[in-house]
Amino acid sequence: MTPLGRLIAARIARDGPMRLDDYMQTCLLHPEHGYYSTRDPFGAAGDFTTAPEISQMFGELAGLALAQAWLDQGAPAPFTLAEIGPGRGTLMADIRRATRAVPGFADAARLSLVEASPHLRQVQAQALGPVAHLDSVTDLPDAPLFLIANEFLDALPIRQFVRVERGWAERMVTVRDGALGFALAAPVDLPREGALGEVFEDRPGAAAVVAEVARRIVARGGVAILVDYGTWDGRGDSLQALRRHGFEDPLANPGEADLTSHVDFAPLAAASMDAGAAVSAPVPQGQWLRALGIEARAARLAQAGDAGAADALHRLTDPAAMGHLFKAMAIWPRHAPAPPGFAGLEDHAAHA
Ligand code: SAH
Repeated sequence: MTPLGRLIAARIARDGPMRLDDYMQTCLLHPEHGYYSTRDPFGAAGDFTTAPEISQMFGELAGLALAQAWLDQGAPAPFTLAEIGPGRGTLMADIRRATRAVPGFADAARLSLVEASPHLRQVQAQALGPVAHLDSVTDLPDAPLFLIANEFLDALPIRQFVRVERGWAERMVTVRDGALGFALAAPVDLPREGALGEVFEDRPGAAAVVAEVARRIVARGGVAILVDYGTWDGRGDSLQALRRHGFEDPLANPGEADLTSHVDFAPLAAASMDAGAAVSAPVPQGQWLRALGIEARAARLAQAGDAGAADALHRLTDPAAMGHLFKAMAIWPRHAPAPPGFAGLEDHAAHA
């Protein structure tokens, strides 16, 4: 067992089986042994590669989309330029470089980064210079908010419930024969249909973050762009552990593998609308980036001698690569136009 695995097993021996959200939170953010607290997991030498680490085009186009939304809303100054879960700071660096050409944007922007990992906070400060780091979106300044998050929501802890004869039984982490294993808690009632054996995933933390962001956008203006892999109204067990670019058992190496699950965008859209905001359907990443002009940008970079531009275009947009599984969803004030690449979702569609 990993050092963190031994701590978790000791805790289970003392307190009983552990909820999955607690297990995930501990694995990812334990101050001493947590996955994000201790390492830089990105890139070829790490465990996974994200869109901004594949190509500068991702951040450039996302930045220009944010800047266009800022112009469409009357160029409010000052405003908060924010990112949640900024990783190495690459996405924000690309956003800042690409938006330098937009008059007034950089001068009006006050940068805020929401980041839980002390280690990654340091990496981000190296990439971006002195920056305000916040623990939570509730700490964001009271100002118009132009926010982006890429592959943040998938890292938020989930609970899983399995449909059994007498209701829904929560999946718990326990110790069996000296190893971590899953067990089911006593069934509870949930207001939800499901076939026997079906798994339902709940991500309460994500809905709370999105609702808080949406409330601020309704009150002060702004836009949020959330990019992640997932579905609309997802079903089934999507918990996954990724280590050295390969999948493994989520209980095998606590603290040493990235634990994530597919984001279900439907409850997040519902939370945004409940807060009074307009929201888009989740748009496949390939479609969104093409609408923002990624093909022209890739051609331009290739012309200028960037040998990787064509490959990056393919990885970011091809349906067999990241183009379909990854989705972008936007939140904005109802009275403002939709940000570039997005269209408004009608209330009844999200609640259906
Ligand atoms: N956006 C980056 C990194 C994605 S990885 C990119 O696209 O490359 C997830 C990021 O979210 C990491 O920076 C991680 O430390 C951060 N994170 C995970 N859980 C968090 C939480 N509960 N609060 C704030 N940040 C969190």
